[in-house]
Amino acid sequence: MSHRAASVDAPPLEFDIEALRARYAEERDKRRRPDGNAQYVEVTGDFSHYVDDPYVEPGFSRAGMAEEVEVLILGGGFAGLSAGAQLVMAGFKDIRIVEKGGDFGGVWYWNRYPGAQCDTDAYVYLPLLEETGYLPTQKYIFGDEIQGHAQRIGRTFGLYERALFQTQVKEMRWIEAESKWLVSTDRGDAIKAHFVIQTVGVLDRPKLPGIPGINGFRGHTFHTSRWDYGYTGGDIHGNLSKLADKRVAVIGTGCSAIQCVPHVGEAAKHLYVFQRTPSSIDLRNNSYTDPTWAKSLAPGWHQRRRENFVALTSGIPQPEDLVNDGWTEAVRNVGGFFAISGETNLSADQIARQVEIADFRKMNQLRARIDEIVKDRKTAEALKPWYRQFCKRPTFSDNYLPTFNRPNVTLVDTKGRGVDRITETAVVFDDVAYDVDCIVFATGFEVGTSLARRTGSQTIGRDGKSLSQEWAHGMRTLHGFYTHDFPNLFQMGLGQNGVSYVFTYPIDEQAKHIAAVIGEIRRRRANRFEPTAQAEAEWVKTIRSMSGPTREFQRDCTPGYYNNEGKRDELGGVIDEAFGGGPQEFFALVNKWRADGMPGLAIS
Ligand code: NDP
Repeated sequence: MSHRAASVDAPPLEFDIEALRARYAEERDKRRRPDGNAQYVEVTGDFSHYVDDPYVEPGFSRAGMAEEVEVLILGGGFAGLSAGAQLVMAGFKDIRIVEKGGDFGGVWYWNRYPGAQCDTDAYVYLPLLEETGYLPTQKYIFGDEIQGHAQRIGRTFGLYERALFQTQVKEMRWIEAESKWLVSTDRGDAIKAHFVIQTVGVLDRPKLPGIPGINGFRGHTFHTSRWDYGYTGGDIHGNLSKLADKRVAVIGTGCSAIQCVPHVGEAAKHLYVFQRTPSSIDLRNNSYTDPTWAKSLAPGWHQRRRENFVALTSGIPQPEDLVNDGWTEAVRNVGGFFAISGETNLSADQIARQVEIADFRKMNQLRARIDEIVKDRKTAEALKPWYRQFCKRPTFSDNYLPTFNRPNVTLVDTKGRGVDRITETAVVFDDVAYDVDCIVFATGFEVGTSLARRTGSQTIGRDGKSLSQEWAHGMRTLHGFYTHDFPNLFQMGLGQNGVSYVFTYPIDEQAKHIAAVIGEIRRRRANRFEPTAQAEAEWVKTIRSMSGPTREFQRDCTPGYYNNEGKRDELGGVIDEAFGGGPQEFFALVNKWRADGMPGLAIS
C-alpha cells in the first residue's frame, strides 16, 4: 500500500504516515502520568542498602583530617579525572579529589553489571588517549577496560596520591572572610579550598520504581549499578553460574537491561523481563582494533576523530564520517535536532517533515528487524518501540532480541503501565503473580530531582543560601560553570553547557576551559571570581531561547528522563538546559569569551 504525502508534488510514501503518528501519540498518552518523577522512590531509609558499595571491603574507617588546598575536585569519574589531568598539565600541584567510590571510574566504577559496555566508539569515548599512550582493544569496549583506563589516567597524572576515596561530601560552605570553601565529609574531614570543581554525574543516583510492596519482597534484590556477583556468580563478561537454579525478574528495559538481559537469560533457570516501554535496538557490529590502522594514526588523531563524531551527531555535515556507526548513521538519517544545517533551500517545515519521514523509516527498519529475529509473534509485537528514535536513548545489541527465543525467558509486557505490585515472593502484573527468587532493578537513575537529593550534600553560598534553593526553579549559571553568590565554584556537567551524545567530549573541553580560567585568575593574582547577576541572567535567557526546538521535539515524546518523565511544563529533562547551538559552537563561544577577558565574571 502507498500513501500520498501532504504536498501534491511529493512522491508517495511506502507507509501510512498518519497511522504512524496516531500510533505514536496513543502509545505516548498511555504512558503519561501525573506523578512524573514522584513515581520513583528515593534510595534512602529502608532503601539505602540499594546504594551500598559492593566493591569494597566493609568496615573501612580513617581519621578525619583538616587541610587546605588550592583546588578541590568533587568526584573521581571522567569529569574529575579530566579536570585533575588538565590542571596537572597546566602546572597545578595543590589538588585534592574526593570520591565516594573505592576507586576512580564514576559510572564505570558503579556499573559493572554483566555486559556493561560503552555504546559509543571507544576511540572517541575514552578521554586522554594520546596523553596516556593507550588504544582501546575494540570499537566498543566493556566496562572493565573503561575503568582500567580511568585508573590509567589516575596513575599517569599522579591523581591517586591526591584522592580521598570512600568519602562523601556532606556540606560545602563559603567563608566570605577568607574567600574559601569549607568542605565537610562523612569521614570527619574539614577541607578548605580556594577553588572547588563540582562534577555531579547526570546518571549517578540509582532510582527505584514506587511499586506497591517493593520493600516487602523476601527474596534477593539489587540495582544494576550495584550488581551482586556474590549472588549471581560470574563477572562483567557473564558466566553467572550461580543463577542456574534461580528464577530472576529484571524490571526495566533501558540501556542497562539491554546489556545484562542476555547474560541473565543464558544463566538463569528462568528469566522474566518486565517491560514498560521497549527500547529501540540497532545492530552492534563490534570489531577488534586493527593493528595496521593503529600504526597509521598520526598525532592529533584523537581530537580530530572526536570533533568529527561530535559534529556529525550534532547535525553538522562533514566531508567524511570517521566513525561510521549506528550513531552517525542515525543522526544523519534523522537530522540532528541540536542544529539543522542552513545549507538548503527547504523551509523549516519542509526540513521537519523530511526529518520525520527519515525517522519513521529508521524505526520501521528497527521494527522489521524484531520480526526477523524474534520467533514468537506476540513477543515480537510487544518488543516494538513506537516513538521517534531520539525520544529515548537508542541502544545497540546483537544478543538482546535473540534472548527472547530461549525457552527459559519470558517477556512480560506491562503495556506502558509498569509492574502492578510486588509480594513477598512474586512480581505481579494483570493479576498474574510471577514467583521469583531475585529481582534486578534496571530502572535507571535520578535526573529531574534536586541537586541536594542527588548528591546527598548541601552547598551553602554567600548569605547562607543553598544552591538547591537557588536552582529550585531551574539552573542559574553563566555558561553552565559559575553561579552568582557561589564564588570560586565551577560546575562540570551537562546543564547550560555544550551537550553531546558522547558525554566525555564536553567534559574534556570543560576541563581544559576550567584549567585555563583558573590559570588566568592566578596570573592576575586574584583571590576570587563570581559571575555578575546580569551576566548570569543573560545566559539563562540565551539557554532558554535556544532550547525551543529540543523542547518541542521532546514534548511529543513518550515519557522518560530525556523529557522530565513527560512533564513538559516544568524544567528537569536531561537536555532541557542544553546549549541549543551544539557543543562545538558552545566551546568556540567560551574560548572567545576567555580571549575577550572573561566579561561578566567579576574577578577581584
Ligand atoms: P533507563 O532510565 O534508561 O531505563 C529505566 C527502565 O526502567 C525503563 O525501561 C523504564 O521504563 C523502566 N521502568 C521504570 N519504572 C518501571 C516500572 N514501574 N515497571 C517497569 N519498568 C519500569 O535506565 P538505564 O540504567 O537502562 O540507562 C540509563 C542511561 O545510562 C542510559 O540512557 C544511557 O545514557 C546510560 N547508559 C549508557 C551506556 C553506554 O553504553 N554508554 C550503557 C548503559 C546505560 P520507561 O521507559 O517506560 O520509563
